[in-house]
Amino acid sequence: MAERIAQARLDATTMSEATATARALAKGVRAHKPSGIDAFLHAYDLGSDEGIAMMCLAEALLRIPDAHTADELIADKLAGPDWSEKLGHSDSSFVNAATFSLLLTGKVLESAQDRSDNWKAALGRAVGRLGEPVVRTAVREAMKILGRNFVFGRDINEALKRAVPERKQGLSHSFDMLGEAAKTFEDAERYADAYRGALDRIAEEAKNGFRKDPGISVKLTALHPRYEWSHAEEAVAAVLPVVRELALKASKADVHLTIDAEEADRLELQMDVFEALLADDELFANGWSGFGIAIQAYQKRAAPLCDWVAEAARAHGRKLMVRLVKGAYWDTEIKAAQVAGLPDYPVFTRKVATDVSYLACAKKMLDASDVIYPAFATHNANTIGQVKALAAGRPFEFQRLHGMGEGLYEELANLERHVGDVPTPVRIYAPVGSHKELLAYLVRRLLENGANSSFVNRIADEQVSIDELVRDPVSELDALTPKRNPKIVLPNQLFGGRRNSAGVDLSDPLVREPLLERLKKLETRTWTAKPGLGKGEGRAIVSPHDHRITVGTTFEATAAEVDRMVRAAHAAQVSWDALGGEKRAQLLERTADLYEEHAEEFFSLCTREAGKTLVDAVLELREAVDFLRFYASEARRQFTKPLPLPGPTGEQNELRLHGRGVIAAISPWNFPLAIFTGLTSAPLAAGNAVITKPAGQTPLIGALAVELMHQAGIPKDVVQLAPGSGRVVGGTLTAHPLLSGVVFTGSTETARMINRTLAERDGPIIPFVAETGGQNAMIVDSSALPEQVTRDVISSAFQSAGQRCSALRVLFVQEDVADGMIKMIAGAMEALKVGDPSDLATDVGPVIDEAAKKVLDDHLKWLDKNAKRICRLKQPKEAANGCFVAPAFYEIQSLSQLNQENFGAILHVIRFAGDKLGEVVDAINATGYGLTIGLQSRIDTVRDYVEEHARVGNFYVNRNQIGAVVESQPFGGEGLSGTGPKAGGPHYVARFATERVTCIDTTAAGGNASLMAALEG
Ligand SMILES: Cc1cc2nc3c(=O)[nH]c(=O)nc-3n(C[C@H](O)[C@H](O)[C@H](O)COP(=O)(O)OP(=O)(O)OC[C@H]3O[C@@H](n4cnc5c(N)ncnc54)[C@H](O)[C@@H]3O)c2cc1C
Repeated sequence: MAERIAQARLDATTMSEATATARALAKGVRAHKPSGIDAFLHAYDLGSDEGIAMMCLAEALLRIPDAHTADELIADKLAGPDWSEKLGHSDSSFVNAATFSLLLTGKVLESAQDRSDNWKAALGRAVGRLGEPVVRTAVREAMKILGRNFVFGRDINEALKRAVPERKQGLSHSFDMLGEAAKTFEDAERYADAYRGALDRIAEEAKNGFRKDPGISVKLTALHPRYEWSHAEEAVAAVLPVVRELALKASKADVHLTIDAEEADRLELQMDVFEALLADDELFANGWSGFGIAIQAYQKRAAPLCDWVAEAARAHGRKLMVRLVKGAYWDTEIKAAQVAGLPDYPVFTRKVATDVSYLACAKKMLDASDVIYPAFATHNANTIGQVKALAAGRPFEFQRLHGMGEGLYEELANLERHVGDVPTPVRIYAPVGSHKELLAYLVRRLLENGANSSFVNRIADEQVSIDELVRDPVSELDALTPKRNPKIVLPNQLFGGRRNSAGVDLSDPLVREPLLERLKKLETRTWTAKPGLGKGEGRAIVSPHDHRITVGTTFEATAAEVDRMVRAAHAAQVSWDALGGEKRAQLLERTADLYEEHAEEFFSLCTREAGKTLVDAVLELREAVDFLRFYASEARRQFTKPLPLPGPTGEQNELRLHGRGVIAAISPWNFPLAIFTGLTSAPLAAGNAVITKPAGQTPLIGALAVELMHQAGIPKDVVQLAPGSGRVVGGTLTAHPLLSGVVFTGSTETARMINRTLAERDGPIIPFVAETGGQNAMIVDSSALPEQVTRDVISSAFQSAGQRCSALRVLFVQEDVADGMIKMIAGAMEALKVGDPSDLATDVGPVIDEAAKKVLDDHLKWLDKNAKRICRLKQPKEAANGCFVAPAFYEIQSLSQLNQENFGAILHVIRFAGDKLGEVVDAINATGYGLTIGLQSRIDTVRDYVEEHARVGNFYVNRNQIGAVVESQPFGGEGLSGTGPKAGGPHYVARFATERVTCIDTTAAGGNASLMAALEG
């Protein structure tokens, strides 16, 4: 930050010039009535209930085809907030809702109070006469008006027509044919066509060069469904020819083409595409200077990126037009970095730091005027003042969004006229597309501008003085300690005292490439798994995706060896328990650290032994580490000190938790490290010895895990690996007389078998904690955003080859939107890559073994006879030597057609009528399973209904339904899905403890001294 502060500092003269301009602009803006989106932001505080409800309506209403859901959404959003307070005296939702339509006509009127009084009577009469359809129509109209304020034109012809008066005023435009990012190849083709068509039309009108004529801004995410780092090669190869074609059109017409900046993890791709085009002589043969990219100042890489762009331009002998923005995805970046457990954020965490970075970048761009014509995009008067002063006559333009900053730039024009400055060119970034498609996207942008910290919001707030608005960001930041925002903790500190597991930023080539090199070297390593005591019987372990690869050997314990292990564990448990919660916590935390130190070995094993992709392997290790640290903190919380209990005076009552004895932990292959570690470490934390049985398919990962537990200092007899078959090892363990409990994750059938074995035992009845199968559903109503649904369905159903307990099996889609939704999901499936999990571009790896494959293949055969096939991907070439079941998508009529869980990448869809949500939830409950359920809906009452009625352990709303995070989303089901308590939750560790209460009569020796002392006190 110190470097940026130095780079951004303005000398005193420039600074006072900048402040004077900013002050004049801010004063001018305050003196006039706002228009367009600015007016909306003035009228509605987006942090308020009314503002949020309004945004929700705008985001969803126009895409809802059916009256039922539209009415539900309207009722949901209009009933809650206090509209009457907002708009005047009316207490009618309808009156207020309809008032919006008038509020938002673009010429937002002087005072909401006057308007609501005027309209109240008229609209009140209308609702009385016509009832609900009128309400619906009125609110839809309101949204359309809002749409017109956001969206410049529904197609390029409409947009060019609307641009005419602005062009007459000397303004120019950059059209963006945008919508949501493409989810299918078909969408991508449609967007590409829209861009092509737009450029052809613009070319017809272009005569004055790129600085004056309208041009286009391109979002690369619109041009490929997998424009992401993991598919970089394929995406860049597909996107490049399209952008080149567009660039060639732009070059011939001499209009600008800017590649927009998107999320930080796509920056490398944006640079790749940009660099490849820069090197293309044909594009620049005519001296075209309108090509460029957008640079986001909120990114920490922004300033070096400015240098890189200038150097690249010089190296190729090009002139460019480069846009500097602050960045539109700040909240997304913060969340993404937290979710991914990154070491730090890619963006600044203080608004003022972004402003400083913007200035530093602006200086760099202006200083590179030999190769860069800068475009400064902002709606901030202060930033405008600073850029203008900095430029000191060097050429540049300002850019603003359609509907925003209108008043501000009018003030600038007035000021320039007044002082006799040459007017600075201003360009309007103008989104083009249907209202229905664009509103969802634009609402998100609006929300960003409605943030408290944003200039647009602050200038609307009369409490913020002009002096505050025009403060010098450089001295403000300079004076701040610390420079980073203390309210935004680093991702590893999210959980207070417990360190969050470290993620791996695979999007960063400096992290990814060396890691892949090291993983390559690990491919030749062979591993062994041995029982804690004894020799076992050897068996080779091969890779599920390629049976020719031997990963290592497991030595499977015999029944006699299992018996010896249990006895040794039994003897060791007492002192382990006596160690106490704090000491055990330290050992578990040390284990977590060792896991992270050995991360690459685990990644390699997860891929080679369990067929996991690298992305899944990283998540697997993180979850394991989180389990260790969380259960350590639980040991500390519950097992360090006795819990004092209430009672009469003269008595001391205390509850203490202790280990029960020896626990058998029996793990599945689908999370060979995470679940294995969770099942092993929770009973350990509670003071038990653990015999831990890895799945037959994945003992090698378990062996490394236990080895590290021993290295950390957990005694060898206290935690022992017992590789082997369910029959020999599982059977011997669960029947063993010295056993004190079983913790298990796996199929419902195996859980039942264990339960029977336990029931037949003589001696003490012991606890059995089981997490079993599911028939997980997701419900999608017509208010959901198809692109979000598609993204979440694809990851829920197909990530990890569908081999997650939580994975989506049955999708319920409201019939009114089912065709479109199903088509988009099937289209997105086409963009999935199935194959070798060690290939970074692979989305779907193998299934675990032949037995698993056979069950899934049989189900697919059944589906082909009894259901409608929507999409079935081809088997990859790797299927010749490994076990693969490529993703499949079938439509069925009813949930009762499925009588078992299908543990793979097979998705079923069922249509339902919008007013039959209750029946859908009943059908899901009737399966008897209750693990995860997903819901995609914008209607809170629908969410409340599902939450209240669905008998499931984990309910996910408007997101995918996999990847539960330890402590944030304790995981586990009910009914056929498990016994509880939830893994990673506050009640889990205590389930492995026995409770002992001590009651001491403190007056036994005579007298109650403490009572008498207390009374005296
Ligand atoms: C013509 C035009 C084109 C655009 N193109 C793009 C594009 O290609 N890609 C893109 O990402 N955006 C783009 N934007 C949006 C732009 O990035 C800004 O979000 C927007 O213009 C607000 O900046 P401002 O100077 O007007 O407002 P200001 O209110 O001064 O600044 C808001 C900025 O501060 C950031 N911020 C808020 N809080 C914090 C914090 N705590 N720490 C750090 N930063 C914070 C916000 O994310 C936002 O970027 C474009 C904007 C315009 C006008």
